[in-house]
Amino acid sequence: MAKKDHYDHDHDDFHIVMVPFMAKGHLIPFLELATHIQQRISSKITIASTPLNIQHLIKHHNQYHNHNHNHNHIHFAELPFNPAQHGLPPNGDNTANLRLEHIQKLAQASLSLEEPLSSLISKIKEEEGHPPLCIISDLFLGWVNNVAKSFGIKNITFNTSGAYGTLANMTVWFNLPHRNSSESDSDSDSDEFSVPGFPENYKFRRSHMYRYLREVDAISNDRARFIVSQFSLSMKSDGWICNTIEEVDSLGLDLLRKHIHLPIWSVGPLRRPLPLKGKETSMANEKCIEWLNLKDERSVLYICFGSQNTISASQMMALAEGLEKSETSFIWVVRPPLGFDINGEFNAHEWLPKGFEERIKNAQKGLLVHQWGPQMKILSHKSIAAFVSHCGWNSVMESLSCGVPIIGWPLAAEQAYNAKMLDEELGVGVILTATVESVVSNEEVKNVIEMVMDQERGKGMIMKKKAEEIEVLMREATMEKAKVKGSSIKAMDDFVRSILPTKTMSM
Ligand code: UDP
Repeated sequence: MAKKDHYDHDHDDFHIVMVPFMAKGHLIPFLELATHIQQRISSKITIASTPLNIQHLIKHHNQYHNHNHNHNHIHFAELPFNPAQHGLPPNGDNTANLRLEHIQKLAQASLSLEEPLSSLISKIKEEEGHPPLCIISDLFLGWVNNVAKSFGIKNITFNTSGAYGTLANMTVWFNLPHRNSSESDSDSDSDEFSVPGFPENYKFRRSHMYRYLREVDAISNDRARFIVSQFSLSMKSDGWICNTIEEVDSLGLDLLRKHIHLPIWSVGPLRRPLPLKGKETSMANEKCIEWLNLKDERSVLYICFGSQNTISASQMMALAEGLEKSETSFIWVVRPPLGFDINGEFNAHEWLPKGFEERIKNAQKGLLVHQWGPQMKILSHKSIAAFVSHCGWNSVMESLSCGVPIIGWPLAAEQAYNAKMLDEELGVGVILTATVESVVSNEEVKNVIEMVMDQERGKGMIMKKKAEEIEVLMREATMEKAKVKGSSIKAMDDFVRSILPTKTMSM
């Protein structure tokens, strides 16, 4: 990548402010983005968020950058926020501590950060004699665009998800096509509907939409109005950075560019393992790897539903039964099912088949990891053959960057669209079931697992081959050798060049 001395500015004059959404899957890519910018220019970067999220960021930052002086210019600013004032539980300013219905409440409560953010920008302006160079804000926090405008500075949107899923998510919220698809579909009761922004022959499925969205009946609905207003404001920014890969998400990027008419820099994958949570997790970490070391190459299934989602109790039972029936070896990150405290104790006797834990332990068939697993370490282990995932975008990229095919079990947000893309565009995924309300049988679980785990023939073999091809594309996108740069490196260079005020770098 470009060295800092390729720039001919007094770089310490630059100040960039970043405002991430308050979820783990957003905070870490923001931190990564900040370090990538700093590798190119020595601007000061301030990441602003609520106190709890700033604590997470500092912990993570210190864990990775303690000895790296290049990153001394990343600063953190707390924006005052009291969850209780917004009807949120304690520590409710991070989605990991919230139920699905509260996540929207948190997004709406983020509006209260507008004033503190404006005060922060005023303070920077006063101290440094001019406002920051730009504000980079999360796609979900469109209101930041108003703050940037009020100071006459650039606003760049950072979309931490893929382009395909984001476009589908946005245009579904804008148009609610699943509600009024009778004009385009001959059978109005059909499960399928078209989505604006996608070719007419691309059919999406109502049954794959999570209830929260499926039940929104009109654009005037509070939920829809808020989300649409944030997306609309983000579409008024000066450009979008997407945490995706040009060669992998090509259709989505093409359609998204046509839709938003803004420059898009696809700079992904911006990722790194999340910090371990204390002693308990580092023990789990070692245990997972020791256990995987005993297994044959490409013989183990990894199961995890991300940092903030869980499945229903009946789905959990079907998943466990299906796993046993398939006789597949597995590592499963377990959390209490829907309706229980997701961060609480896991009650195996209540939520898993009788004697399940003992049987799988004695037969060395499965390992249950409570609460949190070292996902990147697991996925990059040679024994892993496939991943049952909710298809959160970070999980998708982590899996593909390790050449691991995905069994999709999307639950919320844009996950169903990501799963659709993995299946139809990339051929590296199948959808086992979708949404937390779906009824899934142990037989369905067994059949899909057996198909994907058999990587010597049929669909399992094709998925594995495609996943390995994508692994190569992803590696190449972030490669930098001599004068050859991958697409994500070039896009990052290009983005940095675009925000510089006058002279540019000699890249
Ligand atoms: N993750 C992890 N261990 C877990 C669960 C999640 O390391 O037990 C990490 C995972 O590697 C990914 C992130 O948490 O980086 C989850 O992000 P994603 O976008 O996949 O889903 P979200 O949690 O935002 O729904």
